[in-house]
Amino acid sequence: MDRKPNFPDAESIKSTNLAHHWHPFTDTASLGMEDLRLISQAKGSHIWDSEGNRILDGMAGLWCVNVGYGRDELADTAAAQMRELPYYNTFFKSTHAPVAALSEKLASLTPGDLNRIFFNTSGSDSNDTVLRIARTYWASRGQPEKTVIIARKNAYHGSTMAGVSLGGMGAMHGQGGPLIPDIVHIDQPYWYDEGGDTDPEEFGLQRARALEAEIDRIGVDKIAAFIAEPIQGAGGVIIPPDSYWPEVMRICRERDILFCADEVICGFGRLGEWFGSIHYDLQPDMISMAKGLSSAYLPIGAVAFSEARAQEMFDAAGEFFHGYTYSGHPACCAVALKNIEIIEREGLIDRTRDHTAPLFAEKMKALGDHPIVGEVRTRGLLAAIELVPEKPSRKRFDNYGEVGTVCRDFCFSNGLVMRAVRDSMVASPPLVITDEEIDELVEKAWKSLDQTWAKVK
Ligand SMILES: *Cc1c(COP(=O)(O)O)cnc(C)c1O
Repeated sequence: MDRKPNFPDAESIKSTNLAHHWHPFTDTASLGMEDLRLISQAKGSHIWDSEGNRILDGMAGLWCVNVGYGRDELADTAAAQMRELPYYNTFFKSTHAPVAALSEKLASLTPGDLNRIFFNTSGSDSNDTVLRIARTYWASRGQPEKTVIIARKNAYHGSTMAGVSLGGMGAMHGQGGPLIPDIVHIDQPYWYDEGGDTDPEEFGLQRARALEAEIDRIGVDKIAAFIAEPIQGAGGVIIPPDSYWPEVMRICRERDILFCADEVICGFGRLGEWFGSIHYDLQPDMISMAKGLSSAYLPIGAVAFSEARAQEMFDAAGEFFHGYTYSGHPACCAVALKNIEIIEREGLIDRTRDHTAPLFAEKMKALGDHPIVGEVRTRGLLAAIELVPEKPSRKRFDNYGEVGTVCRDFCFSNGLVMRAVRDSMVASPPLVITDEEIDELVEKAWKSLDQTWAKVK
Protein backbone atom coordinates (compact mmCIF):
# COMPACT_ATOMS: atom_id res chain seq x y z
CA MET A 1 0.00 0.00 0.00
CA ASP A 2 2.52 2.54 -1.16
CA ARG A 3 0.00 4.58 -3.06
CA LYS A 4 -0.22 8.20 -2.19
CA PRO A 5 -3.44 8.93 -0.34
CA ASN A 6 -5.68 11.26 -2.22
CA PHE A 7 -6.72 14.02 0.11
CA PRO A 8 -7.91 16.95 -1.97
CA ASP A 9 -9.88 18.36 0.94
CA ALA A 10 -7.04 18.21 3.49
CA GLU A 11 -7.00 21.97 3.97
CA SER A 12 -10.70 22.14 4.67
CA ILE A 13 -10.54 19.21 7.11
CA LYS A 14 -7.73 20.94 8.95
CA SER A 15 -9.52 24.27 9.20
CA THR A 16 -12.75 22.60 10.37
CA ASN A 17 -10.68 20.73 12.94
CA LEU A 18 -8.99 23.91 14.12
CA ALA A 19 -12.34 25.59 14.56
CA HIS A 20 -14.01 22.91 16.66
CA HIS A 21 -11.87 20.00 17.72
CA TRP A 22 -10.39 20.31 21.19
CA HIS A 23 -7.25 18.14 21.14
CA PRO A 24 -6.11 16.21 24.20
CA PHE A 25 -2.66 17.15 25.55
CA THR A 26 -2.30 20.09 23.16
CA ASP A 27 -1.67 23.80 23.56
CA THR A 28 -4.72 24.83 21.58
CA ALA A 29 -3.94 28.55 21.62
CA SER A 30 -0.73 28.02 19.67
CA LEU A 31 -2.02 25.31 17.33
CA GLY A 32 -1.96 26.40 13.68
CA MET A 33 -2.77 24.89 10.29
CA GLU A 34 0.89 24.16 9.62
CA ASP A 35 1.21 22.19 12.89
CA LEU A 36 -1.61 19.79 12.14
CA ARG A 37 -0.74 16.41 10.72
CA LEU A 38 -3.70 14.82 9.01
CA ILE A 39 -3.29 11.04 9.18
CA SER A 40 -5.13 9.27 6.43
CA GLN A 41 -4.18 5.60 6.31
CA ALA A 42 -2.08 2.98 8.01
CA LYS A 43 -0.74 -0.49 7.30
CA GLY A 44 1.58 -2.71 9.33
CA SER A 45 4.05 -0.42 11.13
CA HIS A 46 3.51 2.60 8.86
CA ILE A 47 1.09 5.49 8.74
CA TRP A 48 0.47 7.94 5.90
CA ASP A 49 -0.36 11.61 6.14
CA SER A 50 -2.53 13.62 3.80
CA GLU A 51 0.51 14.81 1.88
CA GLY A 52 1.39 11.23 1.03
CA ASN A 53 4.33 10.95 3.42
CA ARG A 54 4.94 7.40 4.58
CA ILE A 55 5.91 7.48 8.25
CA LEU A 56 7.27 4.62 10.38
CA ASP A 57 5.23 4.56 13.56
CA GLY A 58 7.86 3.94 16.21
CA MET A 59 5.19 4.47 18.90
CA ALA A 60 2.48 2.03 17.71
CA GLY A 61 0.04 4.92 17.97
CA LEU A 62 0.09 5.65 21.70
CA TRP A 63 1.92 2.43 22.71
CA CYS A 64 -1.10 0.42 21.69
CA VAL A 65 -1.31 -0.93 18.13
CA ASN A 66 0.56 -4.10 19.07
CA VAL A 67 -0.52 -6.24 16.09
CA GLY A 68 0.03 -3.39 13.64
CA TYR A 69 -2.38 -1.51 11.42
CA GLY A 70 -4.62 -2.76 8.63
CA ARG A 71 -5.92 -6.01 10.11
CA ASP A 72 -9.04 -6.79 8.07
CA GLU A 73 -9.72 -9.68 10.43
CA LEU A 74 -10.32 -7.29 13.31
CA ALA A 75 -12.57 -5.07 11.21
CA ASP A 76 -14.55 -8.13 10.07
CA THR A 77 -14.86 -9.37 13.65
CA ALA A 78 -16.23 -6.02 14.79
CA ALA A 79 -18.70 -5.89 11.88
CA ALA A 80 -19.91 -9.44 12.45
CA GLN A 81 -20.42 -8.85 16.18
CA MET A 82 -22.22 -5.57 15.55
CA ARG A 83 -24.62 -7.37 13.20
CA GLU A 84 -25.22 -10.16 15.71
CA LEU A 85 -25.46 -8.10 18.88
CA PRO A 86 -24.09 -4.55 18.69
CA TYR A 87 -24.65 -3.85 22.34
CA TYR A 88 -26.10 -5.17 25.45
CA ASN A 89 -25.08 -4.29 28.95
CA THR A 90 -23.53 -6.55 31.55
CA PHE A 91 -25.26 -4.94 34.55
CA PHE A 92 -27.97 -6.67 36.57
CA LYS A 93 -27.19 -10.31 35.73
CA SER A 94 -27.06 -10.00 31.90
CA THR A 95 -24.23 -11.40 29.85
CA HIS A 96 -23.27 -12.35 26.29
CA ALA A 97 -20.83 -14.72 24.62
CA PRO A 98 -17.89 -12.37 23.84
CA VAL A 99 -17.58 -11.05 27.41
CA ALA A 100 -17.68 -14.57 28.88
CA ALA A 101 -15.07 -15.81 26.43
CA LEU A 102 -12.75 -12.83 26.91
CA SER A 103 -12.98 -13.14 30.71
CA GLU A 104 -11.95 -16.78 30.51
CA LYS A 105 -9.11 -15.96 28.12
CA LEU A 106 -7.72 -13.16 30.29
CA ALA A 107 -7.94 -15.35 33.39
CA SER A 108 -5.82 -17.92 31.58
CA LEU A 109 -3.20 -15.39 30.42
CA THR A 110 -2.72 -13.46 33.66
CA PRO A 111 -0.27 -14.82 36.25
CA GLY A 112 -1.27 -16.38 39.56
CA ASP A 113 -4.92 -16.46 40.57
CA LEU A 114 -5.94 -13.22 38.81
CA ASN A 115 -9.01 -14.95 37.49
CA ARG A 116 -11.75 -12.41 38.14
CA ILE A 117 -12.08 -9.83 35.36
CA PHE A 118 -13.86 -6.45 35.51
CA PHE A 119 -14.29 -4.63 32.20
CA ASN A 120 -13.75 -0.94 31.56
CA THR A 121 -13.44 1.23 28.49
CA SER A 122 -9.88 2.55 28.84
CA GLY A 123 -6.75 2.45 30.94
CA SER A 124 -7.83 5.48 32.95
CA ASP A 125 -11.15 4.05 34.01
CA SER A 126 -9.47 0.70 34.67
CA ASN A 127 -7.39 2.51 37.27
CA ASP A 128 -10.52 4.16 38.69
CA THR A 129 -11.78 0.62 39.11
CA VAL A 130 -8.52 -0.39 40.80
CA LEU A 131 -8.90 2.43 43.31
CA ARG A 132 -12.49 1.52 44.09
CA ILE A 133 -11.71 -2.20 44.38
CA ALA A 134 -8.70 -1.65 46.66
CA ARG A 135 -10.59 0.48 49.17
CA THR A 136 -13.77 -1.60 48.96
CA TYR A 137 -11.79 -4.78 49.47
CA TRP A 138 -10.26 -3.61 52.75
CA ALA A 139 -13.55 -2.15 53.96
CA SER A 140 -15.20 -5.50 53.30
CA ARG A 141 -12.50 -7.13 55.41
CA GLY A 142 -13.38 -4.86 58.32
CA GLN A 143 -10.49 -2.45 57.76
CA PRO A 144 -12.14 0.62 56.21
CA GLU A 145 -9.29 2.83 57.44
CA LYS A 146 -6.98 1.19 54.88
CA THR A 147 -7.55 3.79 52.19
CA VAL A 148 -4.12 5.13 51.23
CA ILE A 149 -2.77 4.22 47.83
CA ILE A 150 0.97 4.56 47.31
CA ALA A 151 2.00 5.44 43.76
CA ARG A 152 5.17 6.90 42.29
CA LYS A 153 6.35 10.26 41.07
CA ASN A 154 6.40 10.50 37.27
CA ALA A 155 4.05 7.53 36.95
CA TYR A 156 1.27 7.66 34.38
CA HIS A 157 -2.05 6.09 35.29
CA GLY A 158 -4.42 8.01 33.03
CA SER A 159 -6.33 11.23 32.77
CA THR A 160 -9.55 10.80 34.75
CA MET A 161 -9.50 12.21 38.29
CA ALA A 162 -8.39 8.84 39.66
CA GLY A 163 -5.85 8.45 36.89
CA VAL A 164 -4.39 11.90 37.46
CA SER A 165 -4.39 11.49 41.24
CA LEU A 166 -2.69 8.10 41.07
CA GLY A 167 -0.25 9.32 38.43
CA GLY A 168 2.74 11.32 39.49
CA MET A 169 2.78 13.98 36.78
CA GLY A 170 3.27 17.43 38.27
CA ALA A 171 1.81 19.33 35.33
CA MET A 172 -1.36 17.25 35.47
CA HIS A 173 -1.65 17.67 39.22
CA GLY A 174 -1.60 21.42 38.63
CA GLN A 175 -4.89 21.43 36.73
CA GLY A 176 -8.38 20.59 37.96
CA GLY A 177 -7.51 19.86 41.57
CA PRO A 178 -8.04 19.18 44.40
CA LEU A 179 -6.97 15.64 43.71
CA ILE A 180 -8.46 12.53 45.27
CA PRO A 181 -7.32 12.31 48.89
CA ASP A 182 -5.17 9.57 50.43
CA ILE A 183 -2.90 9.03 47.46
CA VAL A 184 0.82 9.55 48.07
CA HIS A 185 3.81 9.39 45.73
CA ILE A 186 7.25 7.94 46.38
CA ASP A 187 10.42 8.44 44.35
CA GLN A 188 10.85 6.54 41.09
CA PRO A 189 13.68 4.13 40.17
CA TYR A 190 15.08 6.48 37.52
CA TRP A 191 18.81 5.88 37.85
CA TYR A 192 19.92 7.97 34.85
CA ASP A 193 18.41 11.18 36.19
CA GLU A 194 18.41 10.63 39.92
CA GLY A 195 20.98 7.97 40.69
CA GLY A 196 24.03 10.24 40.91
CA ASP A 197 27.16 8.28 41.79
CA THR A 198 25.23 5.43 43.38
CA ASP A 199 25.65 2.02 41.79
CA PRO A 200 22.44 1.29 39.81
CA GLU A 201 21.60 -1.90 41.70
CA GLU A 202 22.14 -0.20 45.04
CA PHE A 203 19.98 2.68 43.82
CA GLY A 204 17.25 0.21 42.82
CA LEU A 205 17.22 -1.16 46.37
CA GLN A 206 17.08 2.33 47.83
CA ARG A 207 14.11 3.29 45.69
CA ALA A 208 12.33 0.03 46.56
CA ARG A 209 12.92 0.69 50.25
CA ALA A 210 11.31 4.11 49.85
CA LEU A 211 8.08 2.08 49.64
CA GLU A 212 8.84 0.37 52.93
CA ALA A 213 9.68 3.68 54.58
CA GLU A 214 6.46 5.27 53.32
CA ILE A 215 4.32 2.35 54.53
CA ASP A 216 5.92 2.55 57.96
CA ARG A 217 5.66 6.34 58.10
CA ILE A 218 1.92 6.30 57.36
CA GLY A 219 1.22 3.05 59.19
CA VAL A 220 0.38 -0.19 57.41
CA ASP A 221 -3.09 -0.16 58.96
CA LYS A 222 -3.85 2.81 56.70
CA ILE A 223 -2.40 1.46 53.44
CA ALA A 224 -4.64 -0.17 50.85
CA ALA A 225 -2.35 -0.68 47.89
CA PHE A 226 0.74 0.13 45.89
CA ILE A 227 0.23 0.77 42.18
CA ALA A 228 3.03 0.85 39.64
CA GLU A 229 3.85 0.21 36.01
CA PRO A 230 6.42 -2.61 35.56
CA ILE A 231 8.25 -0.07 33.37
CA GLN A 232 7.06 3.54 33.47
CA GLY A 233 6.03 4.36 29.92
CA ALA A 234 4.83 7.93 29.51
CA GLY A 235 7.23 8.98 32.27
CA GLY A 236 10.08 8.24 29.86
CA VAL A 237 10.52 4.46 29.65
CA ILE A 238 12.06 4.22 33.10
CA ILE A 239 13.49 0.70 33.28
CA PRO A 240 14.18 -0.04 36.94
CA PRO A 241 17.47 -1.65 37.99
CA ASP A 242 17.07 -5.43 38.36
CA SER A 243 17.30 -5.14 42.14
CA TYR A 244 14.11 -3.06 42.32
CA TRP A 245 11.17 -5.40 41.74
CA PRO A 246 12.19 -8.35 43.95
CA GLU A 247 12.61 -5.93 46.85
CA VAL A 248 9.26 -4.24 46.16
CA MET A 249 7.55 -7.62 46.08
CA ARG A 250 9.14 -8.61 49.38
CA ILE A 251 7.84 -5.41 50.96
CA CYS A 252 4.30 -5.78 49.62
CA ARG A 253 4.11 -9.40 50.77
CA GLU A 254 5.54 -8.76 54.24
CA ARG A 255 3.20 -5.83 54.83
CA ASP A 256 0.17 -7.49 53.19
CA ILE A 257 -0.84 -4.53 51.05
CA LEU A 258 -2.38 -5.01 47.62
CA PHE A 259 -0.02 -4.64 44.70
CA CYS A 260 -1.55 -3.44 41.45
CA ALA A 261 0.53 -3.69 38.29
CA ASP A 262 -0.59 -1.10 35.75
CA GLU A 263 0.09 -3.12 32.62
CA VAL A 264 -1.66 -0.81 30.21
CA ILE A 265 1.60 -0.54 28.24
CA CYS A 266 3.59 -3.57 29.42
CA GLY A 267 0.81 -6.09 28.75
CA PHE A 268 0.11 -8.04 25.58
CA GLY A 269 3.60 -8.74 24.41
CA ARG A 270 5.39 -5.42 24.84
CA LEU A 271 8.04 -7.07 27.06
CA GLY A 272 7.98 -10.42 25.26
CA GLU A 273 5.49 -11.97 27.66
CA TRP A 274 1.74 -11.63 28.02
CA PHE A 275 2.37 -9.30 30.94
CA GLY A 276 5.30 -7.32 32.31
CA SER A 277 4.54 -9.08 35.61
CA ILE A 278 5.57 -12.36 34.00
CA HIS A 279 8.73 -10.78 32.60
CA TYR A 280 9.70 -9.45 36.03
CA ASP A 281 8.27 -12.38 38.02
CA LEU A 282 5.89 -10.12 39.97
CA GLN A 283 2.92 -11.48 41.90
CA PRO A 284 0.32 -8.71 41.61
CA ASP A 285 -3.08 -8.86 43.29
CA MET A 286 -4.51 -6.78 40.46
CA ILE A 287 -3.54 -5.98 36.90
CA SER A 288 -5.00 -3.06 34.97
CA MET A 289 -4.85 -3.35 31.20
CA ALA A 290 -6.07 -1.58 28.05
CA LYS A 291 -4.11 -0.45 24.92
CA GLY A 292 -2.62 -3.73 23.57
CA LEU A 293 -5.65 -5.68 24.84
CA SER A 294 -7.42 -4.78 21.59
CA SER A 295 -4.38 -3.29 19.82
CA ALA A 296 -6.56 -0.15 19.98
CA TYR A 297 -8.90 -1.28 17.20
CA LEU A 298 -11.72 -0.58 19.65
CA PRO A 299 -11.54 0.96 23.13
CA ILE A 300 -11.51 -1.53 25.99
CA GLY A 301 -9.82 -1.91 29.37
CA ALA A 302 -9.95 -4.50 32.11
CA VAL A 303 -8.87 -5.17 35.67
CA ALA A 304 -7.92 -8.68 36.71
CA PHE A 305 -8.24 -9.29 40.45
CA SER A 306 -7.12 -12.19 42.61
CA GLU A 307 -9.91 -14.75 42.75
CA ALA A 308 -9.26 -15.48 46.43
CA ARG A 309 -9.43 -11.82 47.41
CA ALA A 310 -12.41 -11.20 45.12
CA GLN A 311 -14.30 -13.98 46.88
CA GLU A 312 -13.55 -12.42 50.27
CA MET A 313 -14.87 -9.10 48.98
CA PHE A 314 -17.97 -10.59 47.35
CA ASP A 315 -18.89 -12.50 50.50
CA ALA A 316 -18.63 -9.49 52.76
CA ALA A 317 -19.51 -6.47 50.62
CA GLY A 318 -22.49 -7.73 48.64
CA GLU A 319 -23.17 -5.69 45.53
CA PHE A 320 -20.25 -3.69 44.09
CA PHE A 321 -21.85 -0.40 43.05
CA HIS A 322 -19.56 0.13 40.10
CA GLY A 323 -19.70 -0.27 36.32
CA TYR A 324 -19.70 1.54 33.02
CA THR A 325 -22.40 1.46 30.37
CA TYR A 326 -19.81 -0.02 28.04
CA SER A 327 -18.27 -2.49 30.53
CA GLY A 328 -17.79 -5.67 28.49
CA HIS A 329 -19.06 -4.10 25.26
CA PRO A 330 -19.68 -7.03 22.89
CA ALA A 331 -17.88 -5.63 19.84
CA CYS A 332 -14.88 -4.51 21.92
CA CYS A 333 -14.67 -7.91 23.62
CA ALA A 334 -14.92 -9.76 20.30
CA VAL A 335 -12.16 -7.61 18.82
CA ALA A 336 -9.94 -8.06 21.90
CA LEU A 337 -10.40 -11.84 21.69
CA LYS A 338 -9.52 -11.84 18.01
CA ASN A 339 -6.51 -9.62 18.71
CA ILE A 340 -5.29 -12.13 21.32
CA GLU A 341 -5.91 -14.94 18.82
CA ILE A 342 -3.71 -13.10 16.28
CA ILE A 343 -0.94 -12.63 18.85
CA GLU A 344 -1.09 -16.36 19.60
CA ARG A 345 -1.41 -17.56 16.02
CA GLU A 346 1.49 -15.43 14.78
CA GLY A 347 3.62 -16.27 17.80
CA LEU A 348 4.17 -12.58 18.50
CA ILE A 349 5.03 -13.11 22.16
CA ASP A 350 7.82 -15.59 21.45
CA ARG A 351 8.95 -13.66 18.39
CA THR A 352 9.24 -10.49 20.46
CA ARG A 353 11.09 -12.20 23.30
CA ASP A 354 13.43 -14.36 21.22
CA HIS A 355 13.95 -12.33 18.07
CA THR A 356 12.59 -8.80 17.75
CA ALA A 357 13.48 -7.45 21.19
CA PRO A 358 17.11 -8.70 21.14
CA LEU A 359 17.57 -7.32 17.61
CA PHE A 360 15.92 -4.02 18.59
CA ALA A 361 18.18 -3.80 21.66
CA GLU A 362 21.32 -4.42 19.59
CA LYS A 363 20.43 -1.94 16.84
CA MET A 364 19.20 0.75 19.21
CA LYS A 365 22.34 0.47 21.33
CA ALA A 366 24.32 1.71 18.31
CA LEU A 367 22.62 5.08 18.75
CA GLY A 368 24.58 5.36 22.00
CA ASP A 369 27.64 6.26 19.90
CA HIS A 370 26.01 9.49 18.77
CA PRO A 371 27.55 12.56 20.45
CA ILE A 372 24.18 13.84 21.74
CA VAL A 373 23.18 10.51 23.29
CA GLY A 374 23.94 9.86 26.96
CA GLU A 375 22.24 6.49 27.28
CA VAL A 376 20.10 4.13 25.26
CA ARG A 377 18.06 1.66 27.28
CA THR A 378 15.64 -0.94 25.99
CA ARG A 379 13.51 -3.72 27.42
CA GLY A 380 11.28 -5.75 25.14
CA LEU A 381 10.00 -3.33 22.52
CA LEU A 382 10.37 -0.25 24.69
CA ALA A 383 13.28 2.14 24.34
CA ALA A 384 14.52 5.47 25.65
CA ILE A 385 17.34 7.61 24.27
CA GLU A 386 18.64 10.24 26.68
CA LEU A 387 19.77 13.46 24.97
CA VAL A 388 22.53 15.32 26.79
CA PRO A 389 25.22 17.88 25.91
CA GLU A 390 28.02 15.74 27.36
CA LYS A 391 27.95 12.06 28.11
CA PRO A 392 29.77 11.06 31.28
CA SER A 393 28.36 13.69 33.63
CA ARG A 394 24.71 12.98 32.62
CA LYS A 395 24.29 16.76 32.87
CA ARG A 396 21.19 18.08 31.07
CA PHE A 397 20.81 20.82 28.47
CA ASP A 398 20.15 24.23 30.02
CA ASN A 399 16.81 24.46 28.23
CA TYR A 400 15.82 21.05 29.61
CA GLY A 401 12.83 19.63 27.76
CA GLU A 402 13.18 21.66 24.59
CA VAL A 403 15.81 19.55 22.85
CA GLY A 404 13.57 16.49 22.91
CA THR A 405 10.86 18.45 21.12
CA VAL A 406 13.36 19.62 18.49
CA CYS A 407 14.41 16.02 17.90
CA ARG A 408 10.82 14.79 17.74
CA ASP A 409 10.02 17.32 15.03
CA PHE A 410 13.09 16.25 13.02
CA CYS A 411 11.95 12.63 13.39
CA PHE A 412 8.57 13.50 11.91
CA SER A 413 10.10 15.33 8.98
CA ASN A 414 12.31 12.29 8.37
CA GLY A 415 9.33 9.94 8.35
CA LEU A 416 9.56 8.51 11.86
CA VAL A 417 7.30 8.85 14.88
CA MET A 418 9.15 8.89 18.18
CA ARG A 419 7.89 10.69 21.23
CA ALA A 420 9.80 13.18 23.35
CA VAL A 421 9.52 12.94 27.13
CA ARG A 422 11.44 15.96 28.32
CA ASP A 423 14.88 15.31 26.71
CA SER A 424 14.42 11.58 26.22
CA MET A 425 13.23 10.14 22.95
CA VAL A 426 11.05 7.11 23.51
CA ALA A 427 9.98 4.34 21.17
CA SER A 428 7.42 1.55 21.40
CA PRO A 429 6.95 0.06 17.92
CA PRO A 430 4.29 -2.46 16.91
CA LEU A 431 5.21 -6.06 17.76
CA VAL A 432 5.04 -6.86 14.06
CA ILE A 433 7.91 -4.52 13.19
CA THR A 434 10.19 -6.28 10.70
CA ASP A 435 13.99 -6.49 10.80
CA GLU A 436 14.17 -4.04 7.87
CA GLU A 437 11.85 -1.64 9.66
CA ILE A 438 14.06 -1.74 12.74
CA ASP A 439 16.95 -0.68 10.48
CA GLU A 440 14.73 2.04 9.02
CA LEU A 441 13.88 3.25 12.53
CA VAL A 442 17.52 3.39 13.62
CA GLU A 443 18.66 5.13 10.41
CA LYS A 444 15.96 7.76 10.65
CA ALA A 445 16.65 8.23 14.35
CA TRP A 446 20.38 8.71 13.67
CA LYS A 447 19.67 11.30 11.01
CA SER A 448 17.30 13.13 13.35
CA LEU A 449 19.89 13.05 16.14
CA ASP A 450 22.45 14.54 13.71
CA GLN A 451 20.09 17.37 12.82
CA THR A 452 19.24 17.96 16.47
CA TRP A 453 22.92 18.03 17.45
CA ALA A 454 23.72 20.44 14.61
CA LYS A 455 20.99 22.74 15.81
CA VAL A 456 21.63 22.77 19.56
CA LYS A 457 25.35 22.14 20.11
C1 LIG B 1 -2.15 5.06 28.60
C2 LIG B 1 -2.02 4.63 30.01
C3 LIG B 1 -3.11 4.72 30.89
C4 LIG B 1 -4.39 5.39 30.50
O1 LIG B 1 -5.05 4.69 29.50
P1 LIG B 1 -6.18 5.46 28.64
O2 LIG B 1 -6.74 4.36 27.79
O3 LIG B 1 -5.49 6.53 27.89
O4 LIG B 1 -7.17 5.99 29.59
C5 LIG B 1 -2.96 4.21 32.15
N1 LIG B 1 -1.82 3.64 32.54
C6 LIG B 1 -0.75 3.54 31.73
C7 LIG B 1 0.48 2.87 32.22
C8 LIG B 1 -0.80 4.06 30.45
O5 LIG B 1 0.25 3.99 29.66
